[in-house]
Amino acid sequence: MKSISDYIRTIPDFPHEGIMFRDVTTLFNDARGFRMAVDMLLHPFAGRPIDRVAGLEARGFILGGAVAHQLGVGFIPVRKAGKLPHERISQDYTLEYGTATVEMHTDSFQPGESVLIVDDLLATGGTAEAGIKLIERMGGKIAGCAFVVDLPDLGGRARLEAMGVEVHSLCSYT
Ligand code: IMP
Repeated sequence: MKSISDYIRTIPDFPHEGIMFRDVTTLFNDARGFRMAVDMLLHPFAGRPIDRVAGLEARGFILGGAVAHQLGVGFIPVRKAGKLPHERISQDYTLEYGTATVEMHTDSFQPGESVLIVDDLLATGGTAEAGIKLIERMGGKIAGCAFVVDLPDLGGRARLEAMGVEVHSLCSYT
């Protein structure tokens, strides 16, 4: 039986020289691979109270939408700045060069609800941390974070766990 990493393509030197880009479009494109990924993302949270799934733009929308559908709960898009039309809350975070901002609609969930965060890949953890902060600032509880790929050498898992967040990933590259 194939494992998750068998479905992921690695593109050297994308988007910059020296970067090994983990391309999950090949995973999404394979019916068995995609189903396996969604089932495995859900597995640690089975039977636990989850009220919403938040997906991080953009590949987190594809995975998070499928996870939310399986759980029978609503989906929250955590978007890059300037995309959401209604009243929103913003969170800045640091990139390798400069800063970026993510946003969420303020009426995405009720205070006290439990939110599962989903994305394709965890690297430094900056993007996920910004998503966590948005949800916590709105009074939400983080059920956990689920990623297809973890790059542990970049420190994201340690960073999120230091915030008290449960982190799951389906495969890792060192
Ligand atoms: P972080 O904020 O440093 O953890 O970076 C994670 C974000 O960058 C995620 O939203 C990923 O989609 C994206 N990302 C970084 N490296 C890769 C990669 O190799 N493949 C796919 N996405 C990546």
